[in-house]
Amino acid sequence: MQRQPTIEWQTNGICNYDCSYCIQSKKFRQGYPSDKEIEKFLDFFACLPGKWEIKMSGGEPFAFKGFMDSIIPGLAKLPHNISILTNLSAPLSILEKFVSLVGNKLSVVSVSLHLEYVDAKEFTDKVKQLRQWLKNDTALVINNVLVPNTLENLLSIKDLVESSGLKYFPQVMKTKHGVFPYSESDQAIVVKLTGKSPTSKQANLAPSYKGLVCWSGVEYFVLDQKGHAWACRTAKRFQEGYLGNVLENTFKLKSLPLACKYDICPCTVPANRGMIEGINKTAYYEN
Ligand code: SF4
Ligand code: SF4
Repeated sequence: MQRQPTIEWQTNGICNYDCSYCIQSKKFRQGYPSDKEIEKFLDFFACLPGKWEIKMSGGEPFAFKGFMDSIIPGLAKLPHNISILTNLSAPLSILEKFVSLVGNKLSVVSVSLHLEYVDAKEFTDKVKQLRQWLKNDTALVINNVLVPNTLENLLSIKDLVESSGLKYFPQVMKTKHGVFPYSESDQAIVVKLTGKSPTSKQANLAPSYKGLVCWSGVEYFVLDQKGHAWACRTAKRFQEGYLGNVLENTFKLKSLPLACKYDICPCTVPANRGMIEGINKTAYYEN
């Protein structure tokens, strides 16, 4: 699979939800960049060589006013592609404006279904409307965290999503230290929801790619709202793989890929952008 250089940018920490299973602690689910900092981020992206995919997440990006006021209009002028992870709570009018500004460069729209806050049918109807505004080659997926003790219900949610012609993307629940230890009965339902051995395009099981060569830090990195850049999420968790700060002009990519040394790769983005050698040999990604 050809590598797609990608940045995962946490545009802001604030979120309008407070899901009980959120992996981000409340302490870190706050804050956003100033207007001046947004300008610096945009200058940084403008100077990147080549065409990157900038995948934005939060918190909730649309919960930050500067996201639609400054970030999106700024990104619309740059040559890079855009992807977004959102809880889709923004009104349809805002979503339509978002698509009108950057729809021509949207790669992946990942919408997360949080059943503690929304009704599944209303959410699915909203996603169907959004689908109509997107170009055909923009991938649109519905993420669903497999919250323990709710899994029987998720089987019908999966049916609802798929019978609406939409893509259901299950994600095992993560904890600070790895994957949630499902009970035996829940594990059997997890398999029904994810399939027996799904690829990283079909489900997020947070596997380990230990020992495989990974281009994180070279053609992929994560960037937080304060400008700090890290080779990947797991590296950040261990306070390793620091690449500097893009707002302080200390950012530098690594020149060579290394073998992964971690027991968990929590997010499917590096896998689905061709960063990990030896997996996902096809050139199509959806998350
Ligand atoms: S919407 Fe996402 S970031 Fe916000 S509380 Fe829920 S899981 Fe956390
Ligand atoms: S955890 Fe994933 S992204 Fe990070 S080095 Fe390992 S394979 Fe690469």
